[in-house]
Amino acid sequence: MKIYSSERLARLAADRGMPDDYLRDLRVVSSVLPFKVNEYVADELIDWSAAPDDPIFRLTFPHRDMLPPHAYQRMATLLDSGADRKEIKAAAQEIQTSLNPHPGDQLASNVPLVDGRRVEGLQHKYAETMLVFPSQGQTCHSYCGYCFRWAQFVGISELRQAIRGPEAMEKYLAEHPEITDVLFTGGDPMIMKTEVLRRWTDPLLTRERDTVRTLRFGTKALSYWPQRFTSDPDADDLLRLFEEAIAAGKHVAVMAHFSHPNELETDEVRKAVSRIRSTGAVIRTQAPLIAHINDAPGDWSRMWQRQVEMGMSPYYMFMERDTGAQSYFGVPVVRALEIYRAAVRGLSGLGRTARGPVMSAAPGKVHVHGIAEAGGEKAFVLSFLQARDPELVGRPFFAAYDESAEWWDDFKPLPGVGTLGPQ
Ligand SMILES: *Cc1c(COP(=O)(O)O)cnc(C)c1O
Ligand code: SF4
Repeated sequence: MKIYSSERLARLAADRGMPDDYLRDLRVVSSVLPFKVNEYVADELIDWSAAPDDPIFRLTFPHRDMLPPHAYQRMATLLDSGADRKEIKAAAQEIQTSLNPHPGDQLASNVPLVDGRRVEGLQHKYAETMLVFPSQGQTCHSYCGYCFRWAQFVGISELRQAIRGPEAMEKYLAEHPEITDVLFTGGDPMIMKTEVLRRWTDPLLTRERDTVRTLRFGTKALSYWPQRFTSDPDADDLLRLFEEAIAAGKHVAVMAHFSHPNELETDEVRKAVSRIRSTGAVIRTQAPLIAHINDAPGDWSRMWQRQVEMGMSPYYMFMERDTGAQSYFGVPVVRALEIYRAAVRGLSGLGRTARGPVMSAAPGKVHVHGIAEAGGEKAFVLSFLQARDPELVGRPFFAAYDESAEWWDDFKPLPGVGTLGPQ
């Protein structure tokens, strides 16, 4: 697989006809934020004649507005003055640290304890589901410019959360029989060779781990490298792994990240989807709603309709988290509601299984249902789909209407109703 990042990324963009002022932006922004594009994305997904507005180009390539103006200026000045690598790296790290790489307080609050010690790389926030971040899966086949996980990729050690081997995971699961779902995430767990992945999944298939009913794999490989399921040397072995888990009585779910309908149009992805389905695994799809990439209702209705036709189940439309380049990628809640409603309006119920807009915030997964009037005031109607406190799940509550709100932290209590939370 050919990979383009740093100077190779700049050369690729130059080869495909991008102008000099863009190449400068690319160099400045990619000195701070990680970018990586592989040959499949460059050759099969991006429509270069439409760049820079092509949605997959926007998804994977730098844009100057991804950095706050002062950070852009600082880095541009350094590069123009021919600063040495050490100086550039030091400035990049300072800017990275200022960009809120771990939103939702995930690092501090959800790391479980085994033998009294924090196990970085496990996350247990909602009773029934544990997230696992294997250290061998902390990269992706290409990077999304909006990714809130970029701290995992840039190599600042205290920002990394990953776990080396399955022992602590097994131990924690033995102590927590309420966990039915284990969700492997990353980076992208499908970056791991099947043989490595098996070290993580085999322990879940034993009689002792019968409490675990579902294996989920959060991945963007279907859009960035469908060959993972078709022609990679260990693709067949991966399908065997799915079949073995299903034969052991588990539900296997590929939680596929698709950002745009253009990711669904290649022969390779069609083949990959049908091969995964032939194992009995199901594919559920999710993506954040992102300005410049998929903020038109038609993007979502076409995407969900195609996914249903291909045998996948639309699952979540997320709000973008408050991190990194949110000022460039963020979409206000009011606009997100309009996009969601307009997108499902033209679909049958099979496409309406996607819940949205949803934000994964510190207290839980918040579903924004719509706008209504309460006590004479315009209000957002919300509920928790998941909450640290299960008692809160499914009870509607309100937040004051705010045209510019983009995130949970922007919500204010409704005057006269008081606290923000289910009553
Ligand atoms: C979204 C999420 C899950 C899974 O939630 P489901 O609604 O079961 O898909 C689990 N843990 C965390 C931390 C999450 O954000
Ligand atoms: S594939 Fe997922 S983890 Fe990787 S860059 Fe994209 S959003 Fe981030």
